[in-house]
Amino acid sequence: MARLSLAGVSKVFGSVAAVSPLSLDIGDGELVCLLGPSGSGKSTLLRMIGGFELPSSGQVLIDGQDVASVRPNKRPTAMVFQSHALWTHMNVFDNVAFGLKLRKMSRGDITRKVMEALALVGLEGYDKRMPRQLSGGQQQRVAIARCLVLEPKILLMDEPFASLDQHLRERLREEVRLIQRKLGITTLFVTHAQDEALALADRIVVMSMGAIEQVGTPDEIYANPESTFVANFIGTMNMVKGAVAGGKIAAGAFTHDAPIADGEAILGIRPEDFEIADTGTELVVKRVVNLGPFLLAEGAHADGTAITVHLDKSNPVREGSVLRVKPKRYAVYRDGAPPYRSL
Ligand code: ADP
Ligand code: MG
Repeated sequence: MARLSLAGVSKVFGSVAAVSPLSLDIGDGELVCLLGPSGSGKSTLLRMIGGFELPSSGQVLIDGQDVASVRPNKRPTAMVFQSHALWTHMNVFDNVAFGLKLRKMSRGDITRKVMEALALVGLEGYDKRMPRQLSGGQQQRVAIARCLVLEPKILLMDEPFASLDQHLRERLREEVRLIQRKLGITTLFVTHAQDEALALADRIVVMSMGAIEQVGTPDEIYANPESTFVANFIGTMNMVKGAVAGGKIAAGAFTHDAPIADGEAILGIRPEDFEIADTGTELVVKRVVNLGPFLLAEGAHADGTAITVHLDKSNPVREGSVLRVKPKRYAVYRDGAPPYRSL
């Protein structure tokens, strides 16, 4: 368990700024998800923490110690990669024991620790299997055990479940959460999947183009995205371009209070933040999708404004139905400033 601080860390590859100078503090035992689209610099950042990449500037501090000169295998970190990369010619036991053998530990201690690690990831009794005799999920569990057995202070996971199907991903992320809680291990988990970050993280760091867009708890980030980028990346949000004049925004078919300076702005409303109201904006429903617990209706106002609304299943809405909708809450976005929120 350890604290991790990034102080002005950046990485430039030739002419590409993969990570712009950024700073971040991660607390002892915290599970932080780095969330962002492909190419946003997540892996590069993780690799700098693990020691596989040298920062172009800044410092990586673990418990206050600059680890710049410490090689990856000497750092108190361990990394699980997207492709599990087990040694195919070694059985599960030997795969997990490998790092301990390098540490010249006694045979008895190695056996005990490997068995403990396999039990932790739910693979008791699998020690004699070869990697090819395991499913993708089991192989990834071995990769996790191989890291945990080294008792790292910081666990780094780079999209570890990206190649697995949705159901398995959900199960494994719950297991990771339980293990992480049990061991209290400081963890950085990279993902491009917002549902994974929302379900797992104590805090989410949203990245875009090598920079941090927003840091917050899943609830904070979902309820109060600070930019249209974050609003679109986490969940979905209707974004209607408009203009503010005299304290009101007129955006497509909507007019609402917006006590900010006059000028162009974007009205943002989550699909679940609409209510049906007689005084609401009229939409003609173009498409209805059953999402299980609720309905998603895509509608359009006469002026062409397209809006997606979540509705209760008791609502008898069909293609061609007319709905009158009103936002219960909304935000008004403008570049370079925090958004105005109605609530
Ligand atoms: P992510 O993990 O978020 O998909 P990466 O950290 O892998 O993003 O990449 C960030 C940017 O840095 C991308 O533009 C990528 O092409 C570039 N990049 C990453 N590694 C290298 C490298 N070794 N050499 C050159 N460019 C790289
Ligand atoms: Mg990556």
